[in-house]
Amino acid sequence: MTVYLVGAGPGDPDLLTVKAARILSCADLVIHDRLIDPRIFELVPPHAERIDVGKRPGWSATQNNINELLVTVGAGRGAERTIVRLKGGDPFVFGRGGEEAEALMAAGVLFEVVPGISAALAGPAAAGIPVTHRGLSASVTVVAGHREGYDDTNWDALAVGNGTIVVLMGVEHRRRIATALLAGGRLPSTPVAVIERATWESQRTIRTTLAQLGGVDVVSPAIIVIGDVAALSYVGVDAQLLSTTVISTE
Ligand code: SAH
Repeated sequence: MTVYLVGAGPGDPDLLTVKAARILSCADLVIHDRLIDPRIFELVPPHAERIDVGKRPGWSATQNNINELLVTVGAGRGAERTIVRLKGGDPFVFGRGGEEAEALMAAGVLFEVVPGISAALAGPAAAGIPVTHRGLSASVTVVAGHREGYDDTNWDALAVGNGTIVVLMGVEHRRRIATALLAGGRLPSTPVAVIERATWESQRTIRTTLAQLGGVDVVSPAIIVIGDVAALSYVGVDAQLLSTTVISTE
């Protein structure tokens, strides 16, 4: 039995890889996170069992529980079943997929990683932001705004220069992040774009500045893009009609 660690992409089912779509279409069991666009489940056969192990208020499986569940179902006998561990974006970008792979390896369970399109890069693109636009930024750093029990981000170092910073899991900590980057020397006028639910039907982009980021109304999940490129909005005409953009004037 093989456990597939599958990246679901940022949301829009059209942004699944062909391989992810193929594996989902023959899944018998899907163990998934909370942040999966509901449209993706339409690809799963009706008979397939679905287990939501997403962390949410009032209930949350620990990472150990999830690892144990994967090992148990992966080591199970019986009919050949397709087991999918479905994770948002790419399974190895802040998805704790590495820990799940480690647990499966340690237990001798066969598994395969199916890479996905990470929201870290697809989110900005969906909002019309080229993260390394020539002349504005020659680098992009993907950083966690917060990690339980493990936070070694050097915001001072990130503040230097004009490279693009993409923050995941940063909504709750946006004020602290802005303060740290300003203290490190980033200009208060630095453009910022916050992309909520990128590529979901309800995608919304908020345009603001680093000075104002702390006071902006944002709903998770969202990606925070900091740097000169965040002022760009290269979306086609159709996308302009479809997507909501809010200019924050606070
Ligand atoms: N493995 C995922 C990231 C997991 S961390 C990936 O590669 O995309 C979870 C964080 O990713 C969220 O807190 C949010 O900051 C960001 N995120 C994931 N999907 C998103 C989406 N569709 N829109 C906005 N932010 C998203």
